[in-house]
Amino acid sequence: MSKQTMHFQAEVAQLLHLVTHSLYSNQEIFLRELVSNASDACDKLRFEALNNNALYEDAPQLEVRVSFDKEAKTLTITDNGIGMSAQEAIDHLGTIAKSGTRDFMNRLEADKKADAKEQGQLIGQFGVGFYSGFIVADKITVESRRAGLAPEEGVRWISGGTGDFEVETITRTQRGTSVILHLRADAEEYLNAWKIKSIVNKYSDHISLPILMEKEEWKEGENDQPGGMVKTGDWETVNKASALWTRPKKEVTEEQYADFYKAISHDFEAPLTWSHNRVEGNTEYTQLLYIPAKAPFDLWNRDKKAGVKLYVKRVFIMDEAEALLPTYLRFVKGVIDSADLPLNVSRELLQESRDVRAIREGSTKRVLSMLEDLAKHDKHEAAEGTDGVTDVVDADDKAKEGKYSKFYAEFGAVLKEGLGEDFGNKERIAKLLRFASTSSDSTSVSLADYKARMKEGQDAIYYITADNLAAAKNSPQLEVFKKKGIEVLLMTDRVDEWALNYLQEFDGTPLQSVAKGAVDLGKLQDETEKKAAEEAAEAFKPMLAKLKEALKDKAEDVRVTTRLVDSPACLVVQDDGMSTQLARMLKQAGQ
Ligand code: ADP
Ligand code: MG
Repeated sequence: MSKQTMHFQAEVAQLLHLVTHSLYSNQEIFLRELVSNASDACDKLRFEALNNNALYEDAPQLEVRVSFDKEAKTLTITDNGIGMSAQEAIDHLGTIAKSGTRDFMNRLEADKKADAKEQGQLIGQFGVGFYSGFIVADKITVESRRAGLAPEEGVRWISGGTGDFEVETITRTQRGTSVILHLRADAEEYLNAWKIKSIVNKYSDHISLPILMEKEEWKEGENDQPGGMVKTGDWETVNKASALWTRPKKEVTEEQYADFYKAISHDFEAPLTWSHNRVEGNTEYTQLLYIPAKAPFDLWNRDKKAGVKLYVKRVFIMDEAEALLPTYLRFVKGVIDSADLPLNVSRELLQESRDVRAIREGSTKRVLSMLEDLAKHDKHEAAEGTDGVTDVVDADDKAKEGKYSKFYAEFGAVLKEGLGEDFGNKERIAKLLRFASTSSDSTSVSLADYKARMKEGQDAIYYITADNLAAAKNSPQLEVFKKKGIEVLLMTDRVDEWALNYLQEFDGTPLQSVAKGAVDLGKLQDETEKKAAEEAAEAFKPMLAKLKEALKDKAEDVRVTTRLVDSPACLVVQDDGMSTQLARMLKQAGQ
């Protein structure tokens, strides 16, 4: 193919503009993205080579090399991974195949006022990867040859990062890809070995193949020329090149765990907590699971896949392996490395595998225990022991304070989906739920707290669902509960209504909506009140008959009630009826 000029897909051009203009303060992530692409390319080669060993050609050692040229002002990242054919270069570097691009860009547009760090976070989550090179380069040249193709079938791709790019066929003996960044005048600081090494250490230490740089040594100046660093022709590995999860726990620092999380999640913030274990027994695997501190922008996207990567004996198999965790835990990030699965396992096979089922159960339990642990330490009040000695709060526990509230604010609504999705763990999930109530504005009341505060004679957990806290609190249906000082849980998440269908009781106590049927306050109602109500019902009979007749198309029944104190009337639904909240939701959804 002779040289051709092609246009970027409109979305790419738009994205490039955003990337170069908003990521400026997070410049250095370009190296993380390009090294991670190089590493992905090596993973892909290793995977394809399982069925075709010839793809290794004469270079079975997979590696990434980073080099720079001070005179030419270029920084080059070379890998000997899978490479790209000319068509692949056109497709993969000129269009964005991923769905949701539009959403993403609208979000970024809308967030113009957000600070650069947040924008960087968004971009990182979306993984615009390759294009981040244009943060530091005003021109990028990519030279590549796909493994298995002839040397004459190499490709060169060049772009200035605006509207178009050039492609042509070249001869390239070496398999794999070189990305050559022609640095902007204000990005020349990256022509420095120390700088590059420090970025590699920060973001790419966990990458399990060697990242090499050419060694330099100091050379004294001669003939009035100043001294300087010169390249020696020897290459050295600058990352640790060992998969972090395979290292023993005690050899990994907190900082390394956090850095690894940032690398795999594209998050800039440290995770709330994590858990690293080797599971032995019938099914053997290593799990390293993280709970992020912040929800990603597309958490509510139903197609959003779980953030767990699957490895088999340290070989990368797939991203977003949804079979490894239930959907309601889709916020969890991490790695699972199985010793039992075959290397050529497919998504379809995963669904059916007994080992995967065991991994899924084990990992679900692990995540729930992590959450239980955070919940336990959320408000650590130095407890008085029975012996009168105050418990010592250790630093570890102290560090967990407030984390569960933080978690819950971000992911609580997703966790609730588990009530309907994961029957086996329903009890554990129910214990992890938190609500606002008529006694607490913050979303901090657990069902157990509620039970402990129940009035003498109260035999149900009362709740109300509404669009927001104000609407819930001002509902006339709460009047009698307020008067009698009975706590009512205020539920305002969209999923509450649906989720509560699956939670009829907690620890032996039924949950009862205050907006359904006749509220039977049971033993909480005294005899005189009951009698007054009965008398009123009798006295108002003719009036009720008239109202019923007048509302016959609109209301199923009209009753005298004891639930109101100040308001004259309110709407309720039948016990078995759909709640008004659910009806509204379905209507919104066009049902
Ligand atoms: P992502 O890595 O999330 O797919 P990128 O923008 O980083 O998105 O890369 C886009 C695509 O370009 C990759 O999916 C891959 O197909 C191709 N690509 C990028 N870098 C390389 C490389 N070094 N070797 C082979 N293919 C690459
Ligand atoms: Mg990438």
